Amino acid sequence: HLSAQPGEIRTTCAYCGVGCGVLAKPDGQGGLAVRGDPDHPANRGRLCSKGTALGETMGLEDRLLHPVIGGVRADWDTALNHVADRFRETIAEHGPDSVAFYVSGQMTTEDYYVANKLMKGFIGSANIDTNSRLCMASTVAGHKRAFGTDTVPGTYEDLELADLVVLTGSNLAWCHPVLYQRIVAAKAARPAMRVVVIDPRRTATCDIADLHLAIAPGADVALFNALLAEIDRRGARDPRFARHLDGMAEALAAARVEDVSLTGLSAAEIATFLDMWIGTEKVVTVFSQGVNQSASGSDKVNAIINCHLATGRIGQPGMGPFSVTGQPNAMGGREVGGLANALASHLDIDNPAHRDAVQSFWNAPDMPAGAGLKAVDMFRAVERGEIKALWIICTNPAMSMPEADRVRAAIANCDFAAVSDITASTDTARLAHVLLPAAGWGERDGSVTNSDRTISRQRAVLPAPGEARPDWAILAEVGQRMGWPGAFDWPDAAAVFREHAALSGVAGRLGADFDISDHAALDAEGYATLAPFRWPAAGARQGGRFFRDGRFFTPSGRGRMIPVTARPPVAEPDGNHPFQLNTGRIRDQWHSMTRSGRSARLNRHMGEPFVEIHPEDAERLGLVPAGLAELRNHAGRAVLRVLVTDRVRRGEVFAPIHWSGETAPTGRVDALVTAHVDPVSGQPESKAVPVSVAPY
Ligand code: SF4
Repeated sequence: HLSAQPGEIRTTCAYCGVGCGVLAKPDGQGGLAVRGDPDHPANRGRLCSKGTALGETMGLEDRLLHPVIGGVRADWDTALNHVADRFRETIAEHGPDSVAFYVSGQMTTEDYYVANKLMKGFIGSANIDTNSRLCMASTVAGHKRAFGTDTVPGTYEDLELADLVVLTGSNLAWCHPVLYQRIVAAKAARPAMRVVVIDPRRTATCDIADLHLAIAPGADVALFNALLAEIDRRGARDPRFARHLDGMAEALAAARVEDVSLTGLSAAEIATFLDMWIGTEKVVTVFSQGVNQSASGSDKVNAIINCHLATGRIGQPGMGPFSVTGQPNAMGGREVGGLANALASHLDIDNPAHRDAVQSFWNAPDMPAGAGLKAVDMFRAVERGEIKALWIICTNPAMSMPEADRVRAAIANCDFAAVSDITASTDTARLAHVLLPAAGWGERDGSVTNSDRTISRQRAVLPAPGEARPDWAILAEVGQRMGWPGAFDWPDAAAVFREHAALSGVAGRLGADFDISDHAALDAEGYATLAPFRWPAAGARQGGRFFRDGRFFTPSGRGRMIPVTARPPVAEPDGNHPFQLNTGRIRDQWHSMTRSGRSARLNRHMGEPFVEIHPEDAERLGLVPAGLAELRNHAGRAVLRVLVTDRVRRGEVFAPIHWSGETAPTGRVDALVTAHVDPVSGQPESKAVPVSVAPY
């Protein structure tokens, strides 16, 4: 801790899955002075614009400071009893599957652990899902199909050690800026390193691209299947690694070269990409939301992994498929099993032996027999009245779920909706019967896991304002009041972490990849000073990587190549909805802006909701720069400022997801996103939504 100055506290950024270390200290005026932690392995002192502005986001404007029942201030005891009573009564009358939790990749691992234990072990339902379903569920599904577990094979160092970095469906420059900066620095130091960007848009990430492939929306499987077929044709498969694999012949048979026409790329572009990828041994293929947020997202992930498995380019320095997660703790949520189709510690909810082991560890009365409702299905069940009590924690689904207007109406009509948040008036909080004030980033203790499996502490730097409490403590109180005092009795976040670590030892003995049980005896001092560490400790002999030794977590112990077939997006543009809408983030805002929107500096970057449209389309429609355009489809509408640019392809438009608002411009873009989901992962298709566009 030598580089921390007096008064500085080590914590981890609140935003993206890079998971940068932050040194923060109170500025004496209610805010924080922050700088990048030079000792954190993810960022080595760097921060992006969002991280740098964290100290400006601690203000109390619109902050939820005390519990509220039916719009009236309440004390904690009354509010907690009310939530516990409503859940208990609903379960007694309608069964455990009549209730649900919808949680968040913004929560700490400790929060997530307690929520998952309460729902799966004690309520006895698997109806807990998370906004990570919208973020990287397709990667989870792809990993599990290929590796047997949800395992990220490589590390951030691999992005610097690679001779070729392929970024597909990832605007890393804006969405994971410090990781992007690490690649920029590596490329500057080693100019022979090359970068390929595969993205329908010419994003800021293309600034360092040696090749930009403006692929048609959703055509990644076609491109990577063509790559797999060419790997085979050129004899570039790794025959020694092949003995560790199943499914090679089937995957090759499914890799139809003729589907490459779906990409919309020229023969020369495709040939250049194939030559670069096949001809470079040290290649990392990075993928993010452009791959995940698709009705064929799982197949896209496996199409990428297939190429790395076939060539044996996995688990070695500078080689491998690499998923970058959107949220600060999507990975920690995966580790505690916070998805409806997961169990704790990367165990399998469909495996009776795994369920028995977790039930026994928790001494739990009941466990669900299988997966619960994934996010889209969960809100459909709310709409139908089948979910009668809902607890939404640390997320804003009335704005961020696909078909957000429909989800908003479903929550409004739910018999009972509790919302825990730091903000008093989000689109979702306005619908709650009970509001519970949560401690936010900088006020709570916990841990998070970043995209390369590094677990870091988030630490309280300021006292929680008003009556706010950490989410894990609120959940534990409700668990106790529902009738399980012994199972939900922890003195602090450290005790929750110890239990989570101990459970991972059970998982490790059952053959799961995730085992941090060497931290199960961590005392208060050890938790307080816990330095960032990447699991698995036992994987150090492989440089913290997985699978080079040919050992996978499938029943056979071999990796699986998955046969996948290219499919276009579920909904194609037509005469009524001639444009394909692509949604995403901007550099300086985060999710629904409840934190980042508090910084005047961040708001200066792009101050209002907008739509990018190609100049020829804009001219044809009579749209002028800085005018207003209305986007519509059957699900909803948005009115957005017009940004005319040839960064987008003709016939496609791009709009960011961050804004809400009822008056023009109204940026509720997720109101337009239709709820077509990947059949394997349940992740919605947020990047290919047919809409009409007209002057407003
Ligand atoms: Fe925070 Fe991500 Fe920026 Fe790092 S790159 S400072 S984790 S938002």
